[in-house]
Amino acid sequence: MLSDDQLLRYSRQLVLSELDFIGQRKLLDSRVLVVGAGGLGCPLVLYLASSGVGHITIVDHDVVELHNLPRQILFDERDVGKKKALVAADKLNQQYPDTAVDAVCLRLTEVSELPEGTFDLMIDATDTPSVGLVLNAYSIVHRVPLLYLAAVAMEGRLFFARGYEIDKPCLQCYFGSTADPAGGCHTLGVLAPAVGALALLGATQALRSLLGEMPETLLCLDAWRLNALQLYVAKSEGCTACGI
Ligand SMILES: [Zn+2]
Repeated sequence: MLSDDQLLRYSRQLVLSELDFIGQRKLLDSRVLVVGAGGLGCPLVLYLASSGVGHITIVDHDVVELHNLPRQILFDERDVGKKKALVAADKLNQQYPDTAVDAVCLRLTEVSELPEGTFDLMIDATDTPSVGLVLNAYSIVHRVPLLYLAAVAMEGRLFFARGYEIDKPCLQCYFGSTADPAGGCHTLGVLAPAVGALALLGATQALRSLLGEMPETLLCLDAWRLNALQLYVAKSEGCTACGI
């Protein structure tokens, strides 16, 4: 079930009742699609791999730039100019032998562009609504939960979209119910540990989802002032994405 090396490597988390041996095996057999290898995606994929998620596909079209380095902790100065997805996959494959990481260098604009494969979870770590809605469409058709993360300045949002369920909201329901802070990181700025905090909460909830449960609420986090707020998001009646 688990090799001797795996028993030793994951020994500190195997004692957690939430994981146990069965849960760890489940993580090792899990397949996760992560879109975005930036400030959210880097810490997220690092901790998914270190926890023993067996298969990760990273989708990102961008190249590493110097101003990325404070937050995008998988990269260093030698990576500037290289494709983020390729560098991230290469480093994770070297560091975590239990995890197979694939890279797809692509700016996602349509559902048909998504890599083939059956995913247990998709994560939008791009902070780009148009990408989120592409993943949302895939999520609804293929019944795959979608974890949406967004961060700007000191604040972040974490939301699970499951529009394929008759009583659960999709990402479009969420976009219609609450406005994310206007402007992006390039105009409002972003603090590296604040975006990292949200990414690691995202990684924790991603593992929880892979083990069969997930939060029902939207989390709004102010990492600077230590405020966290959970809000209920209802399925939107007449939603053009998930409405019946
Ligand atoms: Zn919806």
